[in-house]
Amino acid sequence: MENVLVDEHCELCEAARFTHWYYEDEVCWVADCEACSTPMVVWRSHGTAPKSDEVEWMLARLADAGIYRFGHDVGSIDRVMRQVPDHFHAHFRDPKWLSRRWVEAPSKYSGVGGERQLLA
Ligand SMILES: [Zn+2]
Ligand SMILES: [Zn+2]
Repeated sequence: MENVLVDEHCELCEAARFTHWYYEDEVCWVADCEACSTPMVVWRSHGTAPKSDEVEWMLARLADAGIYRFGHDVGSIDRVMRQVPDHFHAHFRDPKWLSRRWVEAPSKYSGVGGERQLLA
């Protein structure tokens, strides 16, 4: 990407590696959301208007993570940006996403890709 903007007060720009990371490249990264524990794709640049081919690319990478995590035809992409409305991101939500964070251990960072590991 030509121009990557970073906002030092933005948690998505910070891109802290605590949870499982499914994927990353120069356009985006995909990791479990710290709040929801579901896969989330985040644009590298701070802003809300990636180009349409970048949006397409990011949502496809997110769908890959959803398939890896939940299997085929489970869940859907949620593009509503609730917590961080000024930085493009999207979640992949399975039907049980609301209850999961209360009953399942969060994942932990163990490098990009590879097997998803849970916090002990
Ligand atoms: Zn979330
Ligand atoms: Zn940001």
